[in-house]
Amino acid sequence: MPLAGRHYPRSAGEFQSWFATDADCLDYLDWLRWPDGFACPRCGHRGGWAVADGRYKCSGCGSRTSVTAGTLFDRRRTPLTVWFTACWMFATQKDGISALSLQRELGMGSYQTAWAMLHRLRSVLVRPGRDRLVGVVEADETYIGGEEPGLPGGRAKGKKALAGVAVEVKEPRGYGRCRMTVLRDGSAGSLHPFVTGSVEPGTKVITDGWSGYQGIGQLGYGHEPRSQRAARARGEDPGKLLPGVHRVASLAQRWLLGTHQGRYDDAHLQDYLNEFVFRFNRRRSRSRGLLFYRVLELAVGHPPVRYRDLVASPKHKPKPPVPPGDRGHPPSLDQPPASQPWRAS
Ligand SMILES: [Zn+2]
Repeated sequence: MPLAGRHYPRSAGEFQSWFATDADCLDYLDWLRWPDGFACPRCGHRGGWAVADGRYKCSGCGSRTSVTAGTLFDRRRTPLTVWFTACWMFATQKDGISALSLQRELGMGSYQTAWAMLHRLRSVLVRPGRDRLVGVVEADETYIGGEEPGLPGGRAKGKKALAGVAVEVKEPRGYGRCRMTVLRDGSAGSLHPFVTGSVEPGTKVITDGWSGYQGIGQLGYGHEPRSQRAARARGEDPGKLLPGVHRVASLAQRWLLGTHQGRYDDAHLQDYLNEFVFRFNRRRSRSRGLLFYRVLELAVGHPPVRYRDLVASPKHKPKPPVPPGDRGHPPSLDQPPASQPWRAS
C-alpha cells in the first residue's frame, strides 16, 4: 500500500516541492515504471545503465530506452512539470476540471492542448481486466444529456445518448462501485453484453420488467425483474424501483452539467462516463494524493494515445475541439512559451 508523504505528496505544497523540474518528474515516473529497477522493454533483460535525459542502456541487448517511451508520456511536447500539474488538478479536485479551467489555471496558450491532456488522462482510467461488480447489483438504462434539470420536460432532441448503469447495492444501505456504458439501443443485443461486461456471474441482478433483460438468468445471474406495473398497482412510485441506478445516473448528469457545463460531444461521452465512474468508485478515498499516484501509475502502464485517435471517431469527421465561448485560440499543439506561468501559484 503506497504511503502518503513517502510514495505520493500529501498536499499541494509537498507536490510543488517534489516536482519542481522535469528531471524530478522523470525520476518519479522511473520509480513508478520500474520499482525493482530497469527492465528492458525490448528484450526483457533486467539491468542497465542510466545514460542521459532519463534514458537507459540495456546491459543485455544494448538498446536505449527512455523512461517515458511506450507510456502515455511518450514523445510529449508539453513539459512533464505541466503534465504533473494537470494530473494533480485532475486527481485532487473532487469533481475534476474542465479543459477551459485547466487552460486558464496553467496559463496554456492552446485550449486544444488542455483538452487533449485531459482526454489522454481519461483514456488511462479503465484498467484492462478490472474486476466486475459483485454481490447485489441494480442495472438499468438512462438517457444522458436528455433532460435538463430545472427545465421540466426539456428534452433536447438529438442531444441525448443511451447509457447502461449498474451499481452494487450494499446492506443495510448505501452503494458500492458502479459502471456506465454508452449503448447503441435498449435491445437485448445491447443490454446482455453490458451486463456480462460489467457484472460478475453469480451476482444477483435487479432490473425493471423491460424485455431487453429477459434471458440474463441463463447467462449465470440471479435475475430479479421488478415490474413497474405491479409497483403502480401497489400504489408505489415505479421510479423508485431501482433507487441506486437513478442516484448514479442523476449524479453523472449533474457532474456533466456542472464540471463540464454540458459541453461534451457524443463521440467522447464514454470517456467522460469513465471519468465519472473512476471518481464515484473512489468517492470515499481519504487521500486525494493517492488518486494522483493511481492516475500516474495507470499512465506509465498505458501505451501512447495519438492526437488523431482522440479527435477521430466513427461517427464524426475528425475535427479539433472548439473552445466554449468566443475567446478561442487557433488550433495548435504548440508547447506554451517558457515565459508563461503554467503552474498555479
Ligand atoms: Zn534489452
